[in-house]
Amino acid sequence: MNHDCKHPGELFIISGPSGAGKGTICKELLEDAENMVLSISATTREPREGEVHGEHYFFIDKETFLTRIEEGGFLEYAEVYENYYGTPKDNVIQKLQEGIDVVLEIDIQGAMKVKENYPEGIFIFILPPSLKELRRRLINRGRDSMEEIEKRLSKTMDEIRQIHSYDYFVVNDDLEVAVSEVESIVTAEHDRVVDHGAELVKMFEEEAK
Ligand code: 5GP
Repeated sequence: MNHDCKHPGELFIISGPSGAGKGTICKELLEDAENMVLSISATTREPREGEVHGEHYFFIDKETFLTRIEEGGFLEYAEVYENYYGTPKDNVIQKLQEGIDVVLEIDIQGAMKVKENYPEGIFIFILPPSLKELRRRLINRGRDSMEEIEKRLSKTMDEIRQIHSYDYFVVNDDLEVAVSEVESIVTAEHDRVVDHGAELVKMFEEEAK
């Protein structure tokens, strides 16, 4: 992708191993945030009961999805259990151009693809306090079989080694603390001189006239 200039909104990629708590952190972050939206993915899987098109996912057929891949319509996409999932590029870029921050809550593989396509993004790695605690959370969540949990845990160390490609890390021990750390990162990223220096100088010059 070719970006002539950085968009006024910031793209925050919140990523980490399964069970680290990125979903809960994003939910809390979005509840309090102003001027920030969560990106809604597109998928070819059937909607589950209660899922709403445009709210939980954009549900599209496989042919449409494959055409969009060819057109370069995704910031990243993946095939998961014979279904496709992807982050629609136009929606994200449009919000960023409007000056609205966008949050992507995606796995590490997806985040690495976003980094290739949008290196200006701010990449935040959510870590569990320990591997032992991660296992406990995955079991307590009750969502996956023990076999699936072991499969996920066996990938965890490979995933944690990818942390070097990220800008920030947040350890999710106490949820409130973790959310406030992410909020601090958001605030700090908005106060970067490189993005605002020229306009600030101009503002004070106008006043000094
Ligand atoms: P589910 O079908 O349960 O909603 O999601 C299945 C898997 O697809 C989850 O691991 C979820 O994180 C992943 N997924 C959902 N949206 C996206 C996306 O936009 N990109 C990628 N790479 N994975 C996604």
